[in-house]
Amino acid sequence: MSRLKLKALEQRLQALEAFETPKVSLEQYATSPHIAARLLHTAQACYGDVEGKVVADLGCGCGVLAAGASLLGAGACVGFDVDRDALRVARANVEELGNVDLVECDVRLLSAADDDVLNWRFDTVVMNPPFGTKRNRGLDMEFLRAGLRLATCAVYSLHKTSTRAHVLRKAADWGAEARVLAELRFDLPASYKFHKRQSVDVRVDFVRVWFPRKNK
Ligand code: SAH
Repeated sequence: MSRLKLKALEQRLQALEAFETPKVSLEQYATSPHIAARLLHTAQACYGDVEGKVVADLGCGCGVLAAGASLLGAGACVGFDVDRDALRVARANVEELGNVDLVECDVRLLSAADDDVLNWRFDTVVMNPPFGTKRNRGLDMEFLRAGLRLATCAVYSLHKTSTRAHVLRKAADWGAEARVLAELRFDLPASYKFHKRQSVDVRVDFVRVWFPRKNK
């Protein structure tokens, strides 16, 4: 049994600070407490991939997923992000939890590193990565690749539904299994879409990806 019920987890995540000034170039948009709580709750309730596990959050931003994993009973969590300003907010958000570390790093280095060098292993990776649009084309898949290198259980990730075929094909190319667990709606601020409306709904897949040979 998870330590926190879904609603209680969502409420705890609502208390966290979000990006002060989101950086469009880094595709910074915080996962809503509603979605973050459901993602983590599913990972625990359906697969047992959070409680007592060592969890990485790639592109952690203000740390909502890392904090949520900790609140659901993860043994330890590490959040990785390239942006020091976001990590400062994350630091404050996770301070009281006691078992969340933060690392300033470009996740592309994790997907590119040699196996002899990168000997870092996590049970579970959770992430809401940059969607890899415009100047960051392909970054979403680099995050997924990095997640698969780090995770011995599974990667839980969010990707634009419009890229589903590509995500599933890439996973298959890498010898991984991928399952779309849910299709969600993301309310992105208009700035990200260079759009006149206040906000824009984007359809997003919640995906579980794992190597069958590593485990379940
Ligand atoms: N996971 C957070 C933030 C999502 S926004 C949440 O769920 O709320 C995407 C995050 O990826 C941002 O914090 C951004 O700074 C980070 N990011 C973008 N490019 C990156 C890179 N190359 N390496 C590491 N982090 C990156």
